[in-house]
Amino acid sequence: FEEDLPQTARVTRARQAGGVEVFESVEVSAPVPESNQLLVKTAAAGVNFIETYQRSGVYPVQYPFTPGVEGAGEIVAVGENVENFSLGQRITTSEAATGTYSTHFLVDAAKAVLVPDAVSDEQAAALPLQGVTAHYLINSTYKVSPGQTVLTHAGAGGVGQVLTQLLKAKGARVITTTSSPEKAKIAQAAGADYVLEYQGFAEKVHEITKGEGVPVVYDGVGKDTFTGSLDSLAVRGTMVLFGGASGQVPPLDLQDLNRRGGLYVTRPAVNWYLRNIEERNWRFTELFAALTKGELRLDIGGSYPLAEAARAQDDLENRRTTGKLLLVP
Ligand code: NDP
Repeated sequence: FEEDLPQTARVTRARQAGGVEVFESVEVSAPVPESNQLLVKTAAAGVNFIETYQRSGVYPVQYPFTPGVEGAGEIVAVGENVENFSLGQRITTSEAATGTYSTHFLVDAAKAVLVPDAVSDEQAAALPLQGVTAHYLINSTYKVSPGQTVLTHAGAGGVGQVLTQLLKAKGARVITTTSSPEKAKIAQAAGADYVLEYQGFAEKVHEITKGEGVPVVYDGVGKDTFTGSLDSLAVRGTMVLFGGASGQVPPLDLQDLNRRGGLYVTRPAVNWYLRNIEERNWRFTELFAALTKGELRLDIGGSYPLAEAARAQDDLENRRTTGKLLLVP
């Protein structure tokens, strides 16, 4: 252990389930690393959609609840048996930390990733969850080949912009959707070949693909786009539902997949694609390389003081954001 372990941490936590008004900024005892854990002083924490589901009560949690699974910063203490990390190193983590809406957070050493010198704290905090998600979607859930035309939604969003850039680097053609002309410009700047409005997007996809449809749709919008996404698919196409920014998709009649051409449907999540250290290293090595080569540029759409997590979540839920949102202590 380090000698001057912090005594307290300042957290922004939800008192109970509800709207963003349930957030409070309070001082608590600093977390203490157990065996194989690291204590990290937060440089920046990532804001993700899942935390809005936890705050509102859609996903069950125990209150008071300090959200946040993603963050980057400096190691200030290590638990027993930690071998591969030492004090002062900078780490990041995509999905494995606890309570990163805090000045300090804990993470299992096996799930922490050392940040290369060329990568800033801000990039290190912005990259992991959205980066790993985009990486597994196009390399593992459905492996995209050069020359394929694929559809993604919310192309100005956090995952959306990373997805587009990684797809372009693979030589794919990208069709995406956004809700406004301003967001369309951002999606284009990320490299999208076609930026559509949500209204009637499936017909447009068929025009672009000369009636074929696309081999895969990556859909994180969910309820409002799901049927249109199925309509956009080619025969034997793959529907990848990876989120529900507009709400959850109701149960599906499996015969519908037959009627539409023998489609495949999957509902992946990041933890199923980081199954061991090798898989984690592979994804992070490729993501850091894309960053340093300039194939991937992270758009920090908003950097909020930690105490203003409520404003960050309110902006995210109400579609006022583009790119990645960070909380900075
Ligand atoms: P985004 O930055 O993409 O924000 C969500 C965007 O969705 C909005 O900006 C908006 O863009 C679009 N959207 C469409 N309809 C709605 C609606 N009714 N309400 C709110 N937003 C809407 O967020 P993230 O990049 O953080 O996440 C995108 C999705 O990916 C989320 O569903 C999230 O849960 C999911 N996710 C899944 C993971 C997994 O492993 N399965 C991991 C990480 C994220 P526009 O205004 O242009 O429509």
